[in-house]
Amino acid sequence: MAVWKCSQCGATKESRCKPKKCPSCGAENTMTKAEGQGESSSSCKGRGKKSCKS
Ligand SMILES: [Zn+2]
Repeated sequence: MAVWKCSQCGATKESRCKPKKCPSCGAENTMTKAEGQGESSSSCKGRGKKSCKS
C-alpha cells in the first residue's frame, strides 16, 4: 500500500489510490506519494472504485 503525504501540512495517509484531498487540512491536490510498495498506484484511477472511495 502506498503512503501519501500532504505537501501543505505534512499529514500522511495510507491508501491504494491517491487521495483527492488531504484528510487533515482538506487541501486538494496536495497529496504526493511518499512511499510505495509494489504496484504503481497511478493505474488505479477509473477502476476499482470501491478501493478508491476515500
Ligand atoms: Zn494537508
